[in-house]
Amino acid sequence: MRWSHEDFDPDRSGQRRNHGAQQINRGARLLEKEKENMEMCKSVYEKIIGHARREMPLEACGYLGGNGGTALDAYSLTNIDKSGEHFSFDPKEQFEAVRAMRKKKQRAVAVYHSHPETPARPSQEDIRLAFDPEIIHVIVSLAAAEPEVRAFRIVKKEVTEEPLVVIEGLRNEPENQE
Ligand SMILES: [Zn+2]
Repeated sequence: MRWSHEDFDPDRSGQRRNHGAQQINRGARLLEKEKENMEMCKSVYEKIIGHARREMPLEACGYLGGNGGTALDAYSLTNIDKSGEHFSFDPKEQFEAVRAMRKKKQRAVAVYHSHPETPARPSQEDIRLAFDPEIIHVIVSLAAAEPEVRAFRIVKKEVTEEPLVVIEGLRNEPENQE
């Protein structure tokens, strides 16, 4: 892994590894920061692939809301670019989605979008426009026979893949992580 938290948050100053399980168990907020895998409920996984297919040949886009680094809900948004190569959220829908997430005590874990004809990795445009180091970028590719879903962090133009784990049910409790 070329990128680490320390690159953009001096408060975490290299002690991340030493804190271990004890700190992870203190609660979801810490867990979000400590976790390196991204978890996604199977229902979310299926929903974003379905959304990507419906929007073909345009890019589909939206938010994944959740907590503790686990995506629990997909909030599909309109791609106002109407493009197969890039996307922009409808600002009004974006606002509504953020409000809906807050109501459910979720936060925006990830932004997702589809690549109708290219692989599931960030394009030059995706990298150029990535501004939030905390958000995960989930890409659904429909380029191959089977859909491919991958997750990335983009920090200072540097792309790091986040291992994506699809889980069957909901696991809101930090204690249930192992
Ligand atoms: Zn893209």
